[in-house]
Amino acid sequence: MSYTALYRKYRPRLFSGVVGQTAAVKTIRNQIISGRVTHAYLFCGTRGTGKTSVAKIFARAVNCERPDGGEPCGECAFCRSADAAQLAVFEIDAASNNGVDNIRDLIGAAAYPPAVGRRKVYIIDEAHMLSAGAFNALLKTLEEPPPHVMFILATTEPHKIPPTIQSRCQRFDFRRIPREDVTAALAAYLSAEGAEADADALAYVARVSDGAMRDALSIMDQCLSYYFGERITLEMVRDVCGAVDGESLFALTDALLAGDADAVQSVVDGAAESGKDAGRLCSEMVSRLRDLIVALTAGGGSAALDVSAPEAARLAEQAKKAGKDELIRMISAFADLQNTLRFDPNDRALFEVCCFKYIAGRDERPAAQAPAAAPTDPAFEARLARIERMIEKAAAGKQPARPAPPPDRGDVKRALEGWADFVRSVRTENAPLAGFLDGASAGESDGGILVVTCQRSYDEIELRKRLSELTALLAKRFGRSFTVRLNAPKPSAQKRADEMPFDEFARLFGE
Ligand SMILES: [Zn+2]
Repeated sequence: MSYTALYRKYRPRLFSGVVGQTAAVKTIRNQIISGRVTHAYLFCGTRGTGKTSVAKIFARAVNCERPDGGEPCGECAFCRSADAAQLAVFEIDAASNNGVDNIRDLIGAAAYPPAVGRRKVYIIDEAHMLSAGAFNALLKTLEEPPPHVMFILATTEPHKIPPTIQSRCQRFDFRRIPREDVTAALAAYLSAEGAEADADALAYVARVSDGAMRDALSIMDQCLSYYFGERITLEMVRDVCGAVDGESLFALTDALLAGDADAVQSVVDGAAESGKDAGRLCSEMVSRLRDLIVALTAGGGSAALDVSAPEAARLAEQAKKAGKDELIRMISAFADLQNTLRFDPNDRALFEVCCFKYIAGRDERPAAQAPAAAPTDPAFEARLARIERMIEKAAAGKQPARPAPPPDRGDVKRALEGWADFVRSVRTENAPLAGFLDGASAGESDGGILVVTCQRSYDEIELRKRLSELTALLAKRFGRSFTVRLNAPKPSAQKRADEMPFDEFARLFGE
């Protein structure tokens, strides 16, 4: 039996099957009914919200001979032919075809009317990844489009689409899908699969997938394959998600409030032993602290909490004990940490340092009830010293993977010689990063620093945001932790035929 991932299998074939995008879908259907379809659209929204699914249905509907209420009829020659869609609908992934040549080829082919159907539809996924030259080439076509062509640009980052392009597209914003819609859709999919799940398990999946139907389905998919034939429970879902159990979060919050560094350590150790990384622990903690703040403002048993009544009561009790100020301090500490851990979710030391810093900070604040410990209090001094030792110990690298040793000159030389191979390897390991490394050259500066000169200024800006990903991949490949310096391209290098000067680029992108 061939296996198809749930999110592929249940990709909606009709607008009526699209979950949670009522406004966009209604407008598009009305355009088809009234014959007011335009030639360029921009679909914006976070991943997994249905942009590509809607684009594909749209592409079939504009080509359908007898659309029914704006839906493809499923019966005409176009709808029934398996080949028709392939001759009229083209999907381009801009993440890997972002150059000016890719777009020129596409535009060249677009000039010819479609062999079947009414319109050639080009769906450009991740459109923000197009190079400046590619956008320029596309712009000319958008200004004078052949009547039989329709473009649908889909993007998660609309601010990176030049305003000149945006102004020629009709824009639709795809919202995060409401939790109750995700839950209902999951229940329907499961029953179609002949599987069952507890209500709290579905609610949990809807919550962690954060409005992305594709993520929700892929979590469910994993549950179904791990626990084949069993009724899916909350425990199973949490296990698949690598979730931290609720008790650990209660314990961690208590430990932080009590200033008990040993208890913090044991929660972190426990999470690591059961295979949960620090990134997951951190994001669960942010979500728990949010719940605690809700519990404090709304009181126990609040429907907004999405938990059982006894759990709501416990949350309310802990929230009251902590108080609003401490909860806000904690959530801001963990939210900052969450940003940092994005690059290395396994960095337990960072997590521990964040906890110990919070404890140290809390000890320095005057307590509301008890008189503040004087800085000369020996008990306070001893406690502070102990926390400092723990921070040092954590920072010194309790992690299983020790940091790679610094390079010597030979290592830098080796990295330079292997640079082209390294960039090729990045393509398979981290494709978006590879896109920004394209055409970059590497050199060496004094002190064994690896200098990477980017081909485009835009690449340099993007690489700077991902510098830790780059150094991690370098360390992995060459076994040394290189110091990397990024350089913007020399002015002459930017004036290549397919690139705009940076000033103009910056102006377009508002940077
Ligand atoms: Zn049809």
